[in-house]
Amino acid sequence: MKKLIVITGASSGFGMELAKEFGKEGYPMLLLAREVEPMEALNIESAICKKVDVTNREEFESAVREAEEKYGKADLIVNNAGIMLLGDLANQDPVEWKKMLDVNVLGVMNGMQIVMEDMKERRTGTIINLSSIAGLKAFPNHAAYCASKYGVTGLTEVVRGELSSYNVRVLSICPGAVSTGLLGHTTNQSIIDGYNEWKESIGATNIKANDIAKTIKYAYDLPQAVSLREIIITDTMQDA
Ligand code: NDP
Repeated sequence: MKKLIVITGASSGFGMELAKEFGKEGYPMLLLAREVEPMEALNIESAICKKVDVTNREEFESAVREAEEKYGKADLIVNNAGIMLLGDLANQDPVEWKKMLDVNVLGVMNGMQIVMEDMKERRTGTIINLSSIAGLKAFPNHAAYCASKYGVTGLTEVVRGELSSYNVRVLSICPGAVSTGLLGHTTNQSIIDGYNEWKESIGATNIKANDIAKTIKYAYDLPQAVSLREIIITDTMQDA
């Protein structure tokens, strides 16, 4: 029998593509995001869709426990929910830094803590965190976003080591630029324009959200003994 998969940020982009990929194979799923309608519109019979803000630990945990009542303990969580508010540190509103760190770092830590004790006890399970290539190297106007994604890369590696002896996989995936709703959160239009111009000028526009989803699913489908610890995936034409 297929085991429960939890995907955060399934209302758009990578998370939505991932829900479709697992949905095709009838996996029981818990799909989470603040906007529930786009997830329900996928019409995936085996999916429970819940309006959850990953920064709200209580509602996040109760959604997971409720799904576990129905489908059994979560075997995979993809901590994918994230926001990108690009800006120049010199003048970016600190409210944006806090929002990003709350969702991108604390949201991921919430997701990990909610499932990890059960996984340790069962000596199996997989946690996949969405970091970014911006969690490994610097990009202009990415100071706060890089801070959040370097955070994800670091904490994933720490917990990977801690859970290795329990046979629990903890992986990070670090995508390059892929067109999704992500850039739409940035409030500075000239930064958005500059980012799009850079992608188009180098021709790095062909990789799709579904390519990331398939890669995440590939990592999960490998035997439990095989851990793709850190996956860097970009458009072939991306130069940085
Ligand atoms: P999208 O903006 O398309 O999707 C982001 C998802 O996160 C949405 O479903 C959104 O749903 C959800 N989300 C945001 N905030 C919250 C919250 N507080 N609680 C619950 N859900 C939330 O972006 P992507 O698919 O591109 O991004 C997915 C992940 O991949 C992010 O972590 C991002 O940083 C990372 N990434 C993306 C790259 C890219 O180029 N696209 C590159 C590298 C990494 P809702 O608004 O309904 O809550």
